[in-house]
Amino acid sequence: MSLNSGPIKLGIVGVGKIVRDQHLPALTKDRDYRLVAAASRHGKVDGIANFPDIETMLDAVPELEAVSLCMPPQFRYDAARTALEAKKHVFLEKPPGATVSEVEDLKALAAANGVSLFASWHSRYAPAVEAARDFLGSTTIRSAAINWKEDVRRWHPNQDWIWAPGGFGVFDPGINALSIATHILPAMFITSAILDFPENRAAPIAAHIAFRTSNGLPVAMELDWCQTGPQSWDILAETDKGAMALSGGGAKLAVDGRVVHDEPEAEYPMLYKRFAEIVRAGVSDVDLAPLQHVADAFMLGKRNVVEAFFD
Ligand code: NAP
Repeated sequence: MSLNSGPIKLGIVGVGKIVRDQHLPALTKDRDYRLVAAASRHGKVDGIANFPDIETMLDAVPELEAVSLCMPPQFRYDAARTALEAKKHVFLEKPPGATVSEVEDLKALAAANGVSLFASWHSRYAPAVEAARDFLGSTTIRSAAINWKEDVRRWHPNQDWIWAPGGFGVFDPGINALSIATHILPAMFITSAILDFPENRAAPIAAHIAFRTSNGLPVAMELDWCQTGPQSWDILAETDKGAMALSGGGAKLAVDGRVVHDEPEAEYPMLYKRFAEIVRAGVSDVDLAPLQHVADAFMLGKRNVVEAFFD
């Protein structure tokens, strides 16, 4: 859809935790957008038109130019297809879909309809990620490790979809780590994986993964959803210029223990800035590398059954 001048008229779909925590605060301050409508079965956004589903919203508000799809990944494809066929630009929350091929299909559909598709990876916009990429680009890396350990009861209480097929389990946060790792480390592939599935759940609660880069560099990844106390969202690298620690989910960079980059986060404002850029440039931004690694982990991973998990 061609854009009129002025702010992009946006609709938001799937009003839940991430919409309230991040999308609405980011959009309130962003003059590139005017939030016009929301579609959600239960959630509502104050001060704008609300609809029960995306079809009703698109019919009632034809001037919408773009939509942000914020429901869980298993339920996103049909909504994305509906929006793209209506020639709306589409912002996909992470992970962009439940399978690699469905997102490839959406990418082709966006191109066929002359609109932009954005597979957003919020963690890539964490403040120290670019500095880490620059640092690693100037060094010889010897090894790397990804440690993403958090308390699922604290961050995802009673989110049944996350434990269902296509909900990704511990890879829901783990894919954030992968979105950073695939941006700052050399290209890599999984050589072995063990996935711990609670006996009463369809998605893993922990994962132990070995990657290798094409030049033989080992990268170990530990995902754990049972970490109480301090939470760890760290990417570490041993290099010829010292030991790098990118911590806090990409917020802080230190080399040999000395902090070299520490700024307040602005991930969602930056995501919306990027979305406006690609919409105005008439292109899509769909990098599936993080999602492919998750698919590979499920493909290659040995399934280990562990004790039942209850919220
Ligand atoms: P959520 O609150 O559990 O779900 C968002 C909304 O999606 C729900 O409020 C619900 O709205 C709708 N929804 C749920 N099940 C649905 C279904 N079966 N069909 C259609 N709509 C459904 O989840 P969230 O935490 O916001 O996460 C949503 C997405 O954002 C996920 O992909 C997640 O990985 C990503 N994300 C989350 C966070 C976070 O901190 N929570 C951070 C970054 C990214 P209605 O019932 O009103 O339709």
